[in-house]
Amino acid sequence: MTKTNQERLLEWLSDAHAMESEAETMLKGQAARLEHYPQLQQRIQQHVEETREQARLLEQRIEALGGSRSTIKDALGSMAASLHAAGNAMMSDEVVKGSGMSYAFEHLEIATYRAIIAAARKVGDAETEAVCRRILAQEEAMADWLAGHLDQVVLDYLARDETEGQTAKR
Ligand code: MG
Ligand code: FE
Repeated sequence: MTKTNQERLLEWLSDAHAMESEAETMLKGQAARLEHYPQLQQRIQQHVEETREQARLLEQRIEALGGSRSTIKDALGSMAASLHAAGNAMMSDEVVKGSGMSYAFEHLEIATYRAIIAAARKVGDAETEAVCRRILAQEEAMADWLAGHLDQVVLDYLARDETEGQTAKR
């Protein structure tokens, strides 16, 4: 075994923190750029708030376990999100691509927290398990919301796109 389960748990919490940095950058960028999709924009803004709280909760757990969050990983996550957002911004169907990206990202988050929950159970860390279950519920709610609204976003996009004088992109 290269690392103890405890060390692995700490590493995954720090990876999750970097993932939330990426999420915050991505979601903030999307919310700021959207103009014609107010319902989507509002839900994303709500999730930005949730994401900040998630990062705070993770920091608490990392500190409680004697670790420190990786500022390098956080910066890389944020940079990856900026690059992806810049790529999406160049596309004429930015809102559709962005929604798909968010949908995928929420599922990455779901998988990440499920892994941490399993590891926390294994080492008997009830507090980390509880925190990550709380976060997991928010990620699942966001994924469900996106799943339930993706078709409408696409239909709104197509309707705007075929209407003279309307912009559909974002
Ligand atoms: Mg999150
Ligand atoms: Fe999320």
